Amino acid sequence: MTRSLWHPHAVASPSSSSSPPAPPSLDSDGGDWRVPPRPGQVVRNWGGNPQLTWRPGLLFTATSEDEVRAAIQTARHDGRRLKVLGARHSYSGVLNDDDGEYALDVSRMVVPGDGSRPGAAILSPGQTLKTAVQALDERGLALANLGTHAAQTVAGAVATNTHGTGRAFPGLSGMVKRLDVIDGLGRIHRGISRDHEPELFLALRSGLGILGVTTSLTLDVRPQFNIALERTVESLPPFFDQKRIDNEVSRHDWFELYVLPYTKSAVVIRKNETAEPVSPGRGSANGLAAVWRWLQERFRCFVVNDLYKWLVAVMLRAPGLADEIFALQRLFLATQSAAFVDRSDRALLAEYERNPWQHLWEIELFFPVAHTAECLQRVCEILERGKRNQDFVTEFPIHVRTVRGDDSYLSPAYCPDSERTFGVISVPQNPVNDRADLFEALTDALDAIMDGHRERPVGLHWGKNRYTGLKRLEERYPGLEAFRQVRQRLDPDGVFLTPWAKAALKIDGG
Ligand SMILES: Cc1cc2nc3c(=O)[nH]c(=O)nc-3n(C[C@H](O)[C@H](O)[C@H](O)COP(=O)(O)OP(=O)(O)OC[C@H]3O[C@@H](n4cnc5c(N)ncnc54)[C@H](O)[C@@H]3O)c2cc1C
Repeated sequence: MTRSLWHPHAVASPSSSSSPPAPPSLDSDGGDWRVPPRPGQVVRNWGGNPQLTWRPGLLFTATSEDEVRAAIQTARHDGRRLKVLGARHSYSGVLNDDDGEYALDVSRMVVPGDGSRPGAAILSPGQTLKTAVQALDERGLALANLGTHAAQTVAGAVATNTHGTGRAFPGLSGMVKRLDVIDGLGRIHRGISRDHEPELFLALRSGLGILGVTTSLTLDVRPQFNIALERTVESLPPFFDQKRIDNEVSRHDWFELYVLPYTKSAVVIRKNETAEPVSPGRGSANGLAAVWRWLQERFRCFVVNDLYKWLVAVMLRAPGLADEIFALQRLFLATQSAAFVDRSDRALLAEYERNPWQHLWEIELFFPVAHTAECLQRVCEILERGKRNQDFVTEFPIHVRTVRGDDSYLSPAYCPDSERTFGVISVPQNPVNDRADLFEALTDALDAIMDGHRERPVGLHWGKNRYTGLKRLEERYPGLEAFRQVRQRLDPDGVFLTPWAKAALKIDGG
């Protein structure tokens, strides 16, 4: 792509303003931030899902706000959309656009962190959570919670409200204190917070990448701390009793289950903050110790993922032998019990990498925590039906977690005063067995439970549920209309409004 990319439009000062600002002259900076994609270059998601790949017409690499504004102006001039790329760990259309539209990479944009205040740290939006967490640790700081992995970018994870587990901890959107964003007209909005532009604050924290480009994020942080982790393999049916769930959730700071459907077993992980020192053998390892740890992690990954997947395949051919087949799984799992103390980030992140070649889909459903046992039982029943009918099969563990609600408009755990805790169930699926009707069956079944309790229908994780056309959308996301209004204000011409977002959020125009 060699043609001239940039033409000046109206000029404005780079502060909150109503007219589009002038992008920087590309002649003056050498223009190397603007990288034409190689012929046929494809943007893929981490899972390699064929439906989630696209070929941008141009890929911009911005290292400053001026360069971000220039990319926006170029897209506007060329009548193209602009998609900001995170680490592409989403499993839904949230991360892609049509071939030929433009893409923007902000991973090389560094925001100085010196302005951090006590209890808060300024983070570069395009850096990975892993880099951010390491940099915080060097300053004796930590995030209070993390999801299972840290390869996502800070801004990408915030955009979809990536979360971990724990009754007291919201997802990353709920940890945002302040942000800077450049909107679809190229205007810079600085210092958006609960006190300054609160509507923008509530919309941008789970902005799905369609409101603007986040150029700086300030997150809640705390002094570094240690966590005592206990991992056991237990019988699943007791967790169908809500009293048991309530007890576990209230007694442990971080509680989660990896349920192996069909097996009646679950890997149970309980974590609590502790003043105890890190256990010997944890921390960074070198030489043989590092190799040994890597082997242990691969083995755990093999037992929970690959072995389980193979056993499910055997079960499908011999459903009558399911119990015997999974007795074997339980035997392997029993070797995986452990208890140790580790630094917070190492204890919070999952200990093993998921296989990147597993082209998973995932559906993730949010509901008030008081209904977790009932929802879990219902999900297991639906999958159990799969065992009988070779239908609705999942070959990976179901993850059960909790998350504190937050008031960002599109949070699947939305609650106005952040006063509630939600249960979260993720059901992964191999695309070989990819079934839109499983997605519907799970959503409908849990909605029916919510109806029975006079709760709103379940919320769904925007980064994981690829099906658009959700029924009862406004009921699921009570802040949706307010979000649409902010979107119209920030990006009236729809520079960031992808077809997926239009369909998923039922947005007209743009
Ligand atoms: C192995 C794995 C583990 C996961 N674990 C969890 C988990 O524990 N909990 C959980 O909740 N989710 C989890 N997810 C889902 C994942 O965290 C989310 O989908 C997250 O959005 C991915 O972040 P990303 O950086 O890859 O963003 P992408 O997927 O690349 O993009 C997501 C959105 O963010 C937008 N975006 C990126 N950068 C910016 C920016 N600077 N300004 C504005 N918008 C921007 C993009 O345009 C896009 O709309 C997991 C996914 C994988 C593959």
